[in-house]
Amino acid sequence: MRSLFYKKIQELKGVGEKRARLFAKLGAPTVGALLRFYPRAYEDWSNPIPIQQAPLDVPCAIRGTVLERPSETRIRGGMTLYKVKITDGDSDMELTYFNNPYIPLMLKEGEEYLFYGKVKANFLKREMSAPQFCSASDCPAVHPIYPLTKGLSGRMIESAVKNAFALLPDAMQDPIPEDIRMQYGLCQLRYALENIHRPRSMEDLGIARKRLVFEELLVLQLGLLRLKGRSRTESRLRLPRDDSAEYFALLPFEPTGAQRRAVKEAVGDMMSGYPMNRLIQGDVGSGKTAVAAALCYCAVRSGMQAALMAPTEILARQHFATLSGLLKGVRTVLLTGSLTAAKKRAISESLQSGEIQLVIGTHAILSEGIAFQRLGLVITDEQHRFGVSQRAALASKGDDPHMLVMSATPIPRTLALMIYGDLDLSVLDEMPPGRQKVDTYAVTGDKRLRAFRFIKKQIDAGRQCYIICPMIEEGPNDMASVNEYAVKTRKEWLPGCKIGVLHGKMKPKEKEAVMTDFSEGRISVLISTTVVEVGMDVPNATVMMIENAERYGLSQLHQLRGRVGRGTDKSICILISDAQNEDTVARLKTMCQTNDGFRIAEQDLKLRGPGDFFGHRQHGLPELKIADMTQDMNVLKQAQAVAREILRTDADLKAPSHRGLRAEVRQLFENKTD
Ligand code: ADP
Ligand code: MG
Repeated sequence: MRSLFYKKIQELKGVGEKRARLFAKLGAPTVGALLRFYPRAYEDWSNPIPIQQAPLDVPCAIRGTVLERPSETRIRGGMTLYKVKITDGDSDMELTYFNNPYIPLMLKEGEEYLFYGKVKANFLKREMSAPQFCSASDCPAVHPIYPLTKGLSGRMIESAVKNAFALLPDAMQDPIPEDIRMQYGLCQLRYALENIHRPRSMEDLGIARKRLVFEELLVLQLGLLRLKGRSRTESRLRLPRDDSAEYFALLPFEPTGAQRRAVKEAVGDMMSGYPMNRLIQGDVGSGKTAVAAALCYCAVRSGMQAALMAPTEILARQHFATLSGLLKGVRTVLLTGSLTAAKKRAISESLQSGEIQLVIGTHAILSEGIAFQRLGLVITDEQHRFGVSQRAALASKGDDPHMLVMSATPIPRTLALMIYGDLDLSVLDEMPPGRQKVDTYAVTGDKRLRAFRFIKKQIDAGRQCYIICPMIEEGPNDMASVNEYAVKTRKEWLPGCKIGVLHGKMKPKEKEAVMTDFSEGRISVLISTTVVEVGMDVPNATVMMIENAERYGLSQLHQLRGRVGRGTDKSICILISDAQNEDTVARLKTMCQTNDGFRIAEQDLKLRGPGDFFGHRQHGLPELKIADMTQDMNVLKQAQAVAREILRTDADLKAPSHRGLRAEVRQLFENKTD
């Protein structure tokens, strides 16, 4: 398998330079990668159904004999229609194909075939349009469906896979040690690969899949646990005491029970003598910032330095404003990419001398020039935007500092286990008192003017409003754009109102000015792209209006909605969409029905599937090829237990029986082979 991994895909029969590029595009530049390029779905041809019993409009297989030579008719537009009559012995059916001159040559009178497609029925007869087919005497029971790219058909991939198997040695090295395979009833690698690509039956496919899912999750868990492995080494940054009570006294409000609990758990970690690795998960508005500030306070009081890293400059600035207001006496700086090199150097110097105690910023904190005297605590906000490796980079700026990550994406608990397998978890499951439910309405575009009348009233009453558009500038599609919208709002919809514009292409200074104007009330309406999604906190804003609401996932809509309802005034959210499809309607309805982030996350998972829910970029973990976070939870638990057991006796995976696993972990996490 090793050497195969390096073998270029061009070495396969039938794959030239051009086709190789297409394979590379699909993520299979080598023979080894091709074997791990799994079909995305399968068609079950193994149980052909009698024509009369075939379900309508659902793909199924039919076995039938061709009754007569296919007929050929010229129709409008130079098209040719081929009709094929078949029978299963009891009933007949008509198949139609367009523009395929090979049909009469391939479907021969009197021969039996399997056909796969959707059966349709009208009053008189049943028919299929352009079903796939193969000869009944040698038809595979299960057909793989591969992800495709233009120029590369399923058949081409199948044939490349077939040729790849021809190169495989019979005795393949198996990364999963035999005792584990035995214990969990897992088949061998070669068998699994063969049957994932060319299953002999649906049962064999199940057996193959089980093994490959297990392997993938085992490798993932091994990688995550090894990252966490550092938590077994003693920390030189032990917090000597718990100063949180002192901190709570500084707060302008009474902390919630959940905030107290989270602080206690995290402080406990920091006092334990081992480095902390904790995730704080809390719905928008649950008060994560106050928890972060508590920990920064405790760290700084014990003579450590702390760093708080946010995904956007806007958010970093806001945290800086909040924390430096709250933690008076703590020497705090803001560090972002837009500072001049000289300023950055000055900050780095005072971090190295220990003069600065707390640094708040963007990923600029990760830059090479930045070093600390005694970095003891690293907090990353909205963690799903940072990758595992960035977190590691930040940790390396200190001597195994305590790490806290905060996420506003409420993830069902079981999923959190998968995504954050390397972290301990605190959940902020209680909202600060006095929060009001944000009433949400989903409307079509023809109600826009009514919405603006409502917004006008709010503005007249001194409130503020967000409007979200998906685009910055006018584009070829008819989606709302910030710039165009701003013109119309100024001219037609809200003449005389103070309107600001915010989007990702603006210079940091401009963005900052707009943000400050909005949070200090000099702007009443902020027309923006989703850059406001993360963390903006302007309690006086009471309306969130989202154009082209169909463009966003539920969790994202929930994040956006979380920008309002932060003060004592009643807030509303207006979702504008003209999309009629069922999926969108269901999504927007969910938004109107609930404000509970966890329920929304679960619903999102159901409606969009886990792949979408955690798009690769969002959580920064390696992409899973076969495991599915909704159906494979039990396997995940097994894999986690096995991974723990393996690492307990062989922390570096140095044993010969673990060499294959070690290679896969490196491949998955570092994109390296060793
Ligand atoms: P998030 O969890 O979304 O990051 P924030 O930390 O921004 O939430 O807090 C949202 C708002 O709630 C802020 O204005 C904050 O000052 C306020 N807040 C936080 N904790 C409490 C509390 N215990 N009581 C009252 N208000 C609170
Ligand atoms: Mg926040």
